[in-house]
Amino acid sequence: MTELSENIYYADQNILNRIELDFELIDRKDWYRLYYCKNDNSYWRLDEWDKYQEQLLVRLPSPENWTTYDDIELRIDLLKRHHGTTANKCIWKDCDRMALKDMAICEFHAYTEMGVRK
Ligand SMILES: [Zn+2]
Repeated sequence: MTELSENIYYADQNILNRIELDFELIDRKDWYRLYYCKNDNSYWRLDEWDKYQEQLLVRLPSPENWTTYDDIELRIDLLKRHHGTTANKCIWKDCDRMALKDMAICEFHAYTEMGVRK
């Protein structure tokens, strides 16, 4: 299997299969699960499944304070990579970022203002 080279993934069926195979569940708390990956000694946090929320898997820098690790920048960056950007500026007032494909706004405003998660 290929290494998980990114720091964040949408928890699609491939990722869930991967967790099943290679990850060990360490703890569950506050709507998250903490996993350990024995292949590369890494720690990961998975959102508990919720039918109204996109479920994400995030690589943790360490297992310390794992429930409070702030991953919002990773989530916004993933949104950008998932959609791709255009050469058009975001239409939000005073924003200099580029708009996402199929949207008139950037990843930051899509995430923080419109609640877009994928
Ligand atoms: Zn913007």
